[in-house]
Amino acid sequence: MIKQSIPPFDSSTIPNDLCPIATEFAFLKTGDWRAMRPVLLRKSCVKCGTCWLYCPTQCITERATWFEANYDICKGCGICAEECPHNAIKMEEETEV
Ligand code: SF4
Ligand code: SF4
Repeated sequence: MIKQSIPPFDSSTIPNDLCPIATEFAFLKTGDWRAMRPVLLRKSCVKCGTCWLYCPTQCITERATWFEANYDICKGCGICAEECPHNAIKMEEETEV
């Protein structure tokens, strides 16, 4: 039996834009198709970071005494509002500007 040799894997042939979410997610602007937006009630936020931990797009940023979503990236999934232990985030319907 003739044994065929398999050429070594060449990773340089893989396009570098296969997974834009993990590499350049800022360009996706997932906020463009959001139907609901998370609105923070600053007085209720204790800055525990739970929303930041659960946000699937990692678009929640830290401010002086609260955390808030970057609306360019936030896709309005509502997970942050669901997980916030202090009910500091309310989901509101997105409106045309
Ligand atoms: S989970 Fe709620 S209380 Fe905690 S940082 Fe986020 S908004 Fe504030
Ligand atoms: S609605 Fe979803 S994407 Fe937007 S900040 Fe909350 S968890 Fe993140």
